[in-house]
Amino acid sequence: MADSDCVFCKILAGEVPADVVTSSETGVAFRDLNPQAPTHVLVIPRAHYENVAAMAADDPAGLAGVYKLAADVAEHEGLSSYRMVTNTGPDAGQSVFHLHVHVLGGRSLSWPPG
Ligand code: AMP
Repeated sequence: MADSDCVFCKILAGEVPADVVTSSETGVAFRDLNPQAPTHVLVIPRAHYENVAAMAADDPAGLAGVYKLAADVAEHEGLSSYRMVTNTGPDAGQSVFHLHVHVLGGRSLSWPPG
């Protein structure tokens, strides 16, 4: 289920370093290299899925586990307001094609996004 060209699979394998916040049976949470807010954590499933739709189709319970982990991150970071974002496709800003939930908080976030 791992993709040898995928940087997030390499983080899961310990081949690329990451600042891990927490983890679960389903996924791992680590700080984004290029943070867009005081808290910017990425939550990824241990299995390689290209995007949220692919995981929803194949493993909806696992996807719920990814979002549970994202909620745990927000609590761990002391965030009462935060945003979870999953970009899907290049036009939506996806640059790493291993499903990840951005957990953003610690500042006021504008809406709509660009
Ligand atoms: P997206 O553009 O939605 O696909 O988000 C990909 C995110 O992954 C970006 O915010 C990058 O800064 C982040 N990123 C890429 N490589 C790494 C890495 N090795 N460790 C942590 N974050 C990364």
